[in-house]
Amino acid sequence: MPRALSRGEENMLLEESTLFEQSVKGRTGYSLPPSDVPIAEVPKGILRKESAALPELSEADVVRHFVRLSTYNYNKDAGFYPLGSCTMKYNPKVADLTPTFEGFANTHPYQPVETVEGNIKLIKELESYLAEISGLDAVTLQPCAGAHGEMTGILCVRAYHESKDDLRKKVIIPDSAHGTNPASVAICGYSVVEAKSNEEGLLTPEAVAKVMDEDVAAIMITNPNTLGIFETHIKEIADIVHAKGGLVYMDGANLNALMGISRPGDFGVDVMHFNLHKTFATPHGGGGPGSGPIGVKKMLVPFLPNPVCHPHKSGDLPNSPDSRLRGNDRSIGRVKAFYGNFSVLVRGYTYIREMGPDGLKRATELAVLNAAYIKARLSQDYYVPYCTPSLHECVFSDKFQNEHDVKTLDIAKRLMDYGQHPPTIYFPLIVHGAIMIEPTETENKAACDAFCDAMIKIAEECRTNPDLVKSAPKTTFRKRLDEARAVKDPRLKVARKCGERCES
Ligand SMILES: *Cc1c(COP(=O)(O)O)cnc(C)c1O
Repeated sequence: MPRALSRGEENMLLEESTLFEQSVKGRTGYSLPPSDVPIAEVPKGILRKESAALPELSEADVVRHFVRLSTYNYNKDAGFYPLGSCTMKYNPKVADLTPTFEGFANTHPYQPVETVEGNIKLIKELESYLAEISGLDAVTLQPCAGAHGEMTGILCVRAYHESKDDLRKKVIIPDSAHGTNPASVAICGYSVVEAKSNEEGLLTPEAVAKVMDEDVAAIMITNPNTLGIFETHIKEIADIVHAKGGLVYMDGANLNALMGISRPGDFGVDVMHFNLHKTFATPHGGGGPGSGPIGVKKMLVPFLPNPVCHPHKSGDLPNSPDSRLRGNDRSIGRVKAFYGNFSVLVRGYTYIREMGPDGLKRATELAVLNAAYIKARLSQDYYVPYCTPSLHECVFSDKFQNEHDVKTLDIAKRLMDYGQHPPTIYFPLIVHGAIMIEPTETENKAACDAFCDAMIKIAEECRTNPDLVKSAPKTTFRKRLDEARAVKDPRLKVARKCGERCES
């Protein structure tokens, strides 16, 4: 296999200096006509003494700087990305197009309600699609991230118990959970009770029964869990929790393994969040905007955040905002300005409409098939900590490679020398030295094979030349960075003053 060119080599670039370093005194990127209004008197005390230390550059300098930097970024449009839907899967380009339609892009949140009837219709339809996909009764699209959905959902659970004068104090969370789960629960004023998963990577009814009592408000469970394994006892676990008056919250971040096949509402879930930026075609990573709608069963509907959108019905006064955006007395209140991140909702809506029910099911099937294929190809060379069949992702560890003093981080770095983006590493936390791979439905067999070939080659290098793996990457623009130092001792200040470099 030809060696992959590093980003720098591809662009014949060896280094990119900062804009401050590229600054040249007196150079500008604009030309304005002379001012034809009198210069206003500004009180002396508030004037700066020296001009701001901004870089001085031409338009081309700035454009080329940012375009060059953008080419250093590996991304899912450039190649295979084993971080999967839970970080960012490939999003069809049609989902980039629809939010730019004038009617969507130019809407202002303060526009009169009767001029945004189409937007409200889209919101209602998307809510009903997500309700159908999850088997739940109602959906709110307000929360703008998975973690935000968790908080919103747990606040609804809290309001539900309080409405019955039942002040419960605890939430059960399995040891394989994502870090946001305990954090959201704590923010809502609950304490966390851990339930241990067994040697098959599953939560058992016994483990839940042991910690379930009448002080537990809910269990928060990810399904399939963070090992990619379907919690086969989910129905029995839900029954145990319900019998003592608790509710079942499902973290739906892994919906890419369920949609079109199995519905959380059918296996005992009362409330869950969706990550539109994982499963439904919005880019993830880089900080948003995202969308984390929640779906609920009937008993939680009165507590959903306000406002609730109602499409136009005959008999409504067209000018009355009340007819579209109604409030609920027992609601937990507003969790987001206006009504969520609207352009992200347009993306999710587009994806669901483009795929249709059969397409969503097919995406799930292909996502699971791709992960199963990779698991089968790599399980000779990499240790599989849990043998239970998994769905859309597979988890290995560095146990075999440890015999040659090689660790997960070394393997991840070496992958870059083969032109492959590293997968998720050191998560989930219950697997020591975890390597988690999620190919998603987008990739074909050739892409999965190229990744597996590189992984198998690296396993061989670990046996024959471990020092090579430990000193990777060799071919990239930047070599191995000291990650601890980058966190503890970051140098964020501009070292030089503007223009100094060019003058000297
Ligand atoms: C991503 C993720 C979350 C948090 O979602 P955000 O949208 O990043 O806030 C929660 N749980 C699991 C299992 C996840 O993968």
